[in-house]
Amino acid sequence: MPSLNERLIDIREQIHQAAERVGRDPATVRLVAVSKAQSIEAMRAAIAGGQTCFGENYAHELRAKASALQGHPVEWHFVGHLQRNKVKDVVPHAAWIHTIDSVALAQAIAAKAVQLIHCCIEVNLAGESTKHGVAPEAIAPLAAAIAKLPVIRLEGLMCIPPAATDPEASRPYFRQLATLGRALHLQELSMGMTNDFQIAIEEGATMVRIGTAIFGERYP
Ligand SMILES: *Cc1c(COP(=O)(O)O)cnc(C)c1O
Repeated sequence: MPSLNERLIDIREQIHQAAERVGRDPATVRLVAVSKAQSIEAMRAAIAGGQTCFGENYAHELRAKASALQGHPVEWHFVGHLQRNKVKDVVPHAAWIHTIDSVALAQAIAAKAVQLIHCCIEVNLAGESTKHGVAPEAIAPLAAAIAKLPVIRLEGLMCIPPAATDPEASRPYFRQLATLGRALHLQELSMGMTNDFQIAIEEGATMVRIGTAIFGERYP
């Protein structure tokens, strides 16, 4: 089995190739290593392999890991559903929050943050009741509300397409998110996971959130 470092090198190469296939500069794609349910040792190995951006889904886990990895050059991305009462655990550490889905959440973040926090609005493109995120028509009003807030800056949109075995099934969703982002002049698109990140990059992803392909399977 390849080492974590070898997997990282392989993923970077795949990111590079996907970008070049569509004439994009590979440097415009950020790799967010989703380390939820993975150990501090595995994260240290990724850091040793040059990885700096890490994504976490749970506020308490982000807080504990930020404390364990203090002093390491880590840029934390919060990619899970964020409850307002957990905002205080996330804002001291997160450079990015990918999952803004209400004005109330954005306000809670702005009220607690002391440093600039880059944000994305999570969009529920397929209207799945099991997923968080706003409907496409709710993006513009939410973006306008965020623009009035201090300390947080809206950078882009994020989505998780419906689960599918064929990565091509994600393509129409990625394309739709890119169209919605362009309409609002937003630069960032957080889309693409282990199974479909190459398709996401072909459709314009600037942040891919990859867990399993880097760290292996997650165990609860
Ligand atoms: C778990 C998770 C990922 C990573 O998923 P993999 O399939 O393991 O790459 C990406 N984004 C979000 C929001 C997640 O919850």
